[in-house]
Amino acid sequence: MMCTTYCFILSVSTKLSVDPTSVPLCHNSDGKPHVNDNGDSLYSNVNSTIVPLQCDCEQKKSRYNRKNVSLTTNYRECLCVLLSIIVFCTIAVVVTLWLMRSANKKECKLCTKYTMSQPLYITTTSIELLITSTSTVISTSTSISTSTTTSTSTLTSSTTSTSTFTTTSTSTSTATSTSKSTSTSTYQPDNVPWTTEANSEKLTKKVLFIVADGIPADVIENATVINMKQIQRIGAYTRAYVGGGKKTYTETATISSPGYMSLLTGTWGNKHNVYNNYVKNPNYHYKNIFRLVKELEPDKKIGIFSTWTTNRLKLVGEGLSEAGNITFDYIFDGYELDLITYPHDKKSRYIYNIDQRVTDETTECIRAHAPDLSWVYLQYTDDIGHYFGDSQQFSQSITYLDDQIGRIWKAVDYRMKYHKEDWLVIITTDHGRDPRTGQSHSGQSVRERTTWILTNSQETNDYFRDYQCGIVDILPTITRFMNITIPIESERELDGIPLIGKVSLIEPNVSLHGNQLTITWTVLHNTGNVTIWLSTSNLFKKGIIDNYKLIDIVSIDKKIVIIDIKKYPSDFYKIALEGQYNTVNKWVYRPRHQNKTSGKISTSSSVYNTTKKTLLGRILQKEPLTSSKNST
Ligand SMILES: [Zn+2]
Ligand SMILES: [Zn+2]
Repeated sequence: MMCTTYCFILSVSTKLSVDPTSVPLCHNSDGKPHVNDNGDSLYSNVNSTIVPLQCDCEQKKSRYNRKNVSLTTNYRECLCVLLSIIVFCTIAVVVTLWLMRSANKKECKLCTKYTMSQPLYITTTSIELLITSTSTVISTSTSISTSTTTSTSTLTSSTTSTSTFTTTSTSTSTATSTSKSTSTSTYQPDNVPWTTEANSEKLTKKVLFIVADGIPADVIENATVINMKQIQRIGAYTRAYVGGGKKTYTETATISSPGYMSLLTGTWGNKHNVYNNYVKNPNYHYKNIFRLVKELEPDKKIGIFSTWTTNRLKLVGEGLSEAGNITFDYIFDGYELDLITYPHDKKSRYIYNIDQRVTDETTECIRAHAPDLSWVYLQYTDDIGHYFGDSQQFSQSITYLDDQIGRIWKAVDYRMKYHKEDWLVIITTDHGRDPRTGQSHSGQSVRERTTWILTNSQETNDYFRDYQCGIVDILPTITRFMNITIPIESERELDGIPLIGKVSLIEPNVSLHGNQLTITWTVLHNTGNVTIWLSTSNLFKKGIIDNYKLIDIVSIDKKIVIIDIKKYPSDFYKIALEGQYNTVNKWVYRPRHQNKTSGKISTSSSVYNTTKKTLLGRILQKEPLTSSKNST
């Protein structure tokens, strides 16, 4: 400001002091200057103390009236104005840099290792931000806070009833569109730079999914979760479900390991074969997300950050030949085995400390290395749930979780701001809790089955918004985001639907009437055809590709097809419906009392009858509560 003032004073003083030699002479039409009686030239100068003003011709009068407007004076004035602008801009730049530095310092309080090594990040992105913010100052546009105050949606459900699945993402989409419209004009320090479809292809795709153990939807919606709400304002939240189809062949226990395996493989328990936390004989033929990424994109880096080593060693099956012999590039787990650093206590304080350690490692690794696909698992909430049930302590554990997620989110936010990366973050839970006390889970009550999915994605689709999403939907969402094409034999086994991008059809249903298969579906994107494939074998579970036969190709809006299956006599059919944008599948068994030519309807319930004993037997294997992890 002092410089600006100086320039202003200089400008004014210049106006008042005119160099006489710079003023043109009064002259005749032939160019000769006017002279006095002594033959001296006469200057039409304002300042008579320097050169007496003696000429009184019309030319002089005219110039006299235009005093202070000599060319030299104008030039100096312009120069000073220009200098003032430059000085002002310099001040704006310095102030902005100082603010950015302050912001970085704040951020790095959570990750001290990087505070000094990367004091100030001046990249293309930051320079762009700088220019944007500077231009915002100069043009005195409306304040930044306008855009941030418009997003008011919360994780609060419109209803906390546990009798039905209720999504809340309608209000979320409003907040999302508001953010999109306002974030283009001003730099918002607390928000990520949005990636449009046009430029997202230039960015490296990164995925992080976080599983927080055992938090029912009604609890998370009423908890104090500032950081998670911030992510919701950017992306979207919806209720979801675990446990497969209740009383169907896909029914799966609402226990941790079956839930993780459903997430990892995009299939329910009838396929991945994990029904409890012992994980005795998982079926690795249903490839998990890490294996798919490593097999299809070997250069991609994968990371696991987990308070339970079994996740890596048994569920993903790292190093096992039958599980694809994959290896994680970044591993941060096994702390529960370190009894010296983390001595076990009955109230699971050590699990909280391990969660903190896992969070620290996640934050640092993402900042420094940014694995292409990462899994973070945090356990403390489930332990507290088992000890105290629905309680203040349980709510407090979720507040701790929110702080941990906030720290991880800052690392992701940093990567998006200062690297050319597009991050998909998905946060979910593995099961709810019993409706009576909240201390247990494993059953099929609505509260145990009702979970939630939170994401920063702005590309969530109608299926995410309007239908009942499941934990199995996360795998196809990740592969779609990373532009990874799943091999067709695996895609025909997936039970999930992508939560982002276009979806052709959902909710396949198949019923068996004697020699007729009645196939129906719900249309979400009414373009293209549905190709219907049929297999009477289930060799895939043994690692052999089934021989699917092409049955029919119909317009998707037909919504129903009746197939004569005389040519394919069997008591079991696998149907795959291939739409333009996604594929769904459904199995159907012939009930024992029905013969192959004149049976009654084989619905989901009759399907259940054939598998009920096995399923219930697995579900009723109660988890031991002695070990905190075995109870999750
Ligand atoms: Zn769990
Ligand atoms: Zn549990």
